[in-house]
Amino acid sequence: METDSVSDVSEAVQVLRRVFGYDAFRGSQQEIIEHVIGGGDAVVLMPTGGGKSLCYQIPSLVRSGVGIVVSPLIALMQDQVDALRALGVRAGFLNSTQDLEERRLVEAEFLAGELDLLYLAPERLRVEQTLSLLDRGKISLFAIDEAHCVAQWGHDFRPDYLALSMLHERWPEVPRIALTATATEATHKEITARLRMEQARHFVASFDRPNIQYRIASKSEPKKQLLELLRGEHAGDAGIVYCLSRASVEKTAQFLVDNGIDAVPYHAGLDARMRAAHQSRFLREDGLVVVATIAFGMGIDKPDVRFVAHLDLPKSVEGYYQETGRAGRDGQPSTAWLAYGLQDVVQQRKMIDGSEGDDAHRRRLAVHLEAMLSLCETVECRRVRLLAYFGQESGPCGNCDTCLAPPQTWDGTVAAQKLMSTIVRLQRERRQKFGAGQIIDILMGRKTAKVIQFDHDGLSVFGVGADLREAEWRGVVRQLLAQGLLAVEGEYGTLVLTDTSGEVLGGRRTVAMRREPEKAPRTARSQS
Ligand code: ADP
Ligand code: ZN
Repeated sequence: METDSVSDVSEAVQVLRRVFGYDAFRGSQQEIIEHVIGGGDAVVLMPTGGGKSLCYQIPSLVRSGVGIVVSPLIALMQDQVDALRALGVRAGFLNSTQDLEERRLVEAEFLAGELDLLYLAPERLRVEQTLSLLDRGKISLFAIDEAHCVAQWGHDFRPDYLALSMLHERWPEVPRIALTATATEATHKEITARLRMEQARHFVASFDRPNIQYRIASKSEPKKQLLELLRGEHAGDAGIVYCLSRASVEKTAQFLVDNGIDAVPYHAGLDARMRAAHQSRFLREDGLVVVATIAFGMGIDKPDVRFVAHLDLPKSVEGYYQETGRAGRDGQPSTAWLAYGLQDVVQQRKMIDGSEGDDAHRRRLAVHLEAMLSLCETVECRRVRLLAYFGQESGPCGNCDTCLAPPQTWDGTVAAQKLMSTIVRLQRERRQKFGAGQIIDILMGRKTAKVIQFDHDGLSVFGVGADLREAEWRGVVRQLLAQGLLAVEGEYGTLVLTDTSGEVLGGRRTVAMRREPEKAPRTARSQS
């Protein structure tokens, strides 16, 4: 009887077992690793938790020389290096957090050939000193982690990444492997072009995460809805709650603590020590909830995160997928829950209109937002839509809210026409700009102070929409926004018609709408 003799298994498998203690490769890891060991370039698209790190770590150990890993996750380099050292891998890093002496030490190790892996922040490669350092050592490969950062079309563009195309010019013999968990087809193409990786082999793993249940709810009382989710389905579970602003992170964390849930806040405004403490509690403890801005989570590898909740609309589908992908890396059932409301759309439009950068940049942000909206408002399987966004075809999944409780639809054409005619009438009052709140008040026939102030109770459309509930009207607005049949503009979230609105107004186009759940509270005016 013989177990695998050394010659039976490849060097890659030996390293996997000896150094990392795993029995077998997952998915296409082995193919990727052997391709890179053989000196080939690779572009790797694999979802979060798929096991990208081994794809460059093992080739770095097998090939002679030092593997250079470019990563934007400066805050994690120390941890990554510590983890590798604990396995006996000779790893080091160079970034702006180090003082001169620490840097010298790492440089000396690199030159002496005493490293297997060297992690570098991308901005290091803009410094000639670093380049000449690399010239004097022996490089086994370049790994470009979070490669979507090179794509301007992507959601996380970093100008420093553009300089990475020179790696190939300067070291044409050294194989390169670019890796990312978030690439649409457009981003994938841009990565390939910008990094000059036309000759590379492309490895695209399935992006499906079947154990994650995707659910998108309409927002009424977000904190209460969250509490219901945590108490009802995730009592004692570890999870992440994402909020857009630091203030709402603080408030939400406090709210959970007040309600007996073990929760801590995490955002860039907290001092570094507290952040580190909260992060390491999350990694070590069983049932901690971290309430965080998107500053939290990149590169965090905790297998048993049971839920990821979003209390605000993510800015892009890519961001949403990356954030929700932090749930259920262990393959066990997990929940991705998002609450979203009209206010989110208005707020994000405002942020886009006020954002720095040129028009092209604003247009990109708007396209990202629209894709996110249409995911929220779809009556199709969420997973089908998500995977389609990443260029992958699939059938209804049976494990998302629309599959589990197919939304009823109704013909919203008349409602849309009423709403649009109200907007047309308000637009005649040129100087005044009105948001969804005022328009809904008019439709529902409410004599609020503001309605009376502007004589809106005298409009012919006043009260023509009394047949729908407030939540339903908000749903109508959101869905028209998601379908591009309405737009929202400017500081006050003014609703305006679009080029296609006329088709509905003129009766040439009908609109199917997702029915709002009955139990949505009628009074949730400011939130939904
Ligand atoms: P990614 O970078 O793609 O998000 P990681 O490289 O961090 O994923 O890997 C996710 C987790 O899976 C890590 O804990 C890693 O150690 C583990 N892992 C990766 N490959 C294997 C494998 N072949 N067998 C067992 N565990 C693995
Ligand atoms: Zn589904």
